Amino acid sequence: MVRAIIKIEGIVQGVGFRPFIHKLVSQYRLCGYIKNTSSGVELELEGEEEELRKFTDDIPRKAPRLALIENIRLDFSDTLKGFTGFEILKSTTERFRNTLISPDICICDDCLRELKDKKDRRYKYPFINCTNCGPRFTIIKDLPYDRAKTSMSDFPMCPDCDREYHDISDRRYHAQPDCCPDCGPQVFFLDAEGEKIQGDAIEIARDYLKQGRIIAVKGLGGMHLACMCRNEDAAELRKRKQRDEKPFAVMCRDAETVRKICHLSEDEEKILTGFRRPIVLLEKKENELSCISENGYVGVMLPYTPLHYLLFGEDIDMLIMTSANLSDTPIMYKNEEAVEKLKGIADGFLLHNRDIQTRCDDSLCWVLEGKEYFARRSRGYVPYPVKVQGSNSRILACGAEQKASFCLSKEDYVFQSQHIGDLKNMETLQNYEQQIEHFKRLFDIAPEAIVCDMHPDYMSTAYAAEQADKLGIPLIQIQHHHAHMCSCMADNNLSGPVIGLIWDGTGYGTDGKIWGGECLVGDYAGFSRFGSIREIALPGGDRAIKDIGRIAVGMLKDAGLPTEGFENNEIIEKMLEAGFNCPGSSGMGRLFDGAAAILGIKTKCSYEGQGAVLLEAAAGETEKSYPVEFYGEPVRFDWRPMIREMFYDRKHGVDVSLIAAGFLNTLIKAGTELCVRARETYGVENVVLSGGSFQNMYIMKRLPEILRQKGFKVYHHTRVSTNDEGISLGQLLAAQAVLEKRKMN
Ligand code: ZN
Ligand code: ZN
Ligand code: FE
Repeated sequence: MVRAIIKIEGIVQGVGFRPFIHKLVSQYRLCGYIKNTSSGVELELEGEEEELRKFTDDIPRKAPRLALIENIRLDFSDTLKGFTGFEILKSTTERFRNTLISPDICICDDCLRELKDKKDRRYKYPFINCTNCGPRFTIIKDLPYDRAKTSMSDFPMCPDCDREYHDISDRRYHAQPDCCPDCGPQVFFLDAEGEKIQGDAIEIARDYLKQGRIIAVKGLGGMHLACMCRNEDAAELRKRKQRDEKPFAVMCRDAETVRKICHLSEDEEKILTGFRRPIVLLEKKENELSCISENGYVGVMLPYTPLHYLLFGEDIDMLIMTSANLSDTPIMYKNEEAVEKLKGIADGFLLHNRDIQTRCDDSLCWVLEGKEYFARRSRGYVPYPVKVQGSNSRILACGAEQKASFCLSKEDYVFQSQHIGDLKNMETLQNYEQQIEHFKRLFDIAPEAIVCDMHPDYMSTAYAAEQADKLGIPLIQIQHHHAHMCSCMADNNLSGPVIGLIWDGTGYGTDGKIWGGECLVGDYAGFSRFGSIREIALPGGDRAIKDIGRIAVGMLKDAGLPTEGFENNEIIEKMLEAGFNCPGSSGMGRLFDGAAAILGIKTKCSYEGQGAVLLEAAAGETEKSYPVEFYGEPVRFDWRPMIREMFYDRKHGVDVSLIAAGFLNTLIKAGTELCVRARETYGVENVVLSGGSFQNMYIMKRLPEILRQKGFKVYHHTRVSTNDEGISLGQLLAAQAVLEKRKMN
């Protein structure tokens, strides 16, 4: 007999960990106790050494799915304490890790089985949940996390549920949202006018769907608009929602159904079916879903709430599920609001009386090298912190603007917000400010400094300045692309120096110009702008971002080529000659825009980045590439020789798919060459890739590999988004470096 001391670090509190250990211990001949500590949990157990080792090995393999085990340490002692039985001791400390809040997690297999079991008391009950699943973040009003401080406070537990809640051997032990048809929330169905329809709400909803109608469905973090996954339904939804051309997401009954419409690799399936249930961007099979997504990918998710599962059946295997919001406003989350604002859009409403406290959109990602590659990190992930080595301050980072997010840090944890949206919209800005206050309270963080972008017109910049003033704490401004670089460094726990290849749309440069196709070298504390791209004129300023034919005219003219065929080309040429309202931009996004327009893929976009997305979709398979030339300082990629050859290729009837791929291959070559030159100058071989233009999978599937072949260590984002949503993380680490430098001086 020996005594073992087992220390487990990570997120192991409030996730059903102690009951799990209780159960696991009973499978062995061991005695002792478990208690929560400041960094996790601690066990002392007595038994045979062999048993104790096996038990310890079992912990990470069988742990509850919400637990995040970072470290397990096993020590032995010969002195026995003579434990009898097994005890759960009261926690000795109440530090912040006790208050870590779980994201909203999809229904677990056990609950799903009960949901389908006619004999179970929760048969077909849309709010079934347990310690291992269900709503969390979106229903929490305040801490400490118990039922009274969630949306479940309106639903006192019945005796049966109460018994489960207090029984440590039960799966629902201490599950705060636990409920049943007798005591919990209820669904109901309203018609287009908001009048309740009597009967089985879910059956009515299913009938509506099958009849080709559009319904609003209340989910975990907000409302969806749902309809059958057919082109005619999608067209109708598009018309009513005035969602011009942005793709819709699809919810499929199961992975097998997904395979009917998409290619699904093993890695993708793992993340698609995992308990966080993001929307995964999958390559479409050649089929008829053109009205759902016009590009090569379609965003697919599996059902994640019991309510969703009940909508599917033999007769419904795929639904369009798109966030219910109107032109850039935040996702709707209140019943009355949905009924009022979705008049004329939804034919009916599948709602319930469990309030959503916090909006949280679906997460959206590709799967890259086996991991999530986020376009949007939100439901299922937030508010789990991102652990960053070397983060040790309390900072509020305010993010960018269009894809706003914020970060708050505490010790080595950084809490990044959910998807917020475009701050230019008033309602979105309000939600942003409310969420910052909510996070500050939930995680008990009073920031010692605030950091924001350098852009003078960002709403987040104005907010940060106002708050810094109000709280009397320092305001630090970090250049947009430096923040992108730092974000990718923090994402990968790098301390620098690195080469930051930052391919992005638009960002405010230190010289007051618009940057975006940058090659930076530096670390958290600062950077040099080693490379960039030749500036592209934006005739009409911001208008050119959607009216990308204008960018094409600017680029063609700059390359000495004719501009015929483009709308208003003569007027635009005159504007260019006069230098009237034609700001220059080194944004990579603009290079994509111009190329897409020159290739005739798209000249008017309904959303930013559409040209790039369609160009990627058009790209075929070829080794072809165009000339790569550089000049000046910073070393600028001269895209003119490339554009000239693309133009002549097009004129000579070369297939657009080959020219598009040739364009992308050329960018990859140019990026690689810039990194090689930066390494020659600075001797740095770590490369981080960040920025919105790296949402191009054609590039992401090739560039990292090519750089690695050249001897670089290459890092891309894995934990936060590569687009502007990820910026807040980088701002935070860069600001910390500024604070440290100030303290030293
Ligand atoms: Zn469950
Ligand atoms: Zn109950
Ligand atoms: Fe950006």
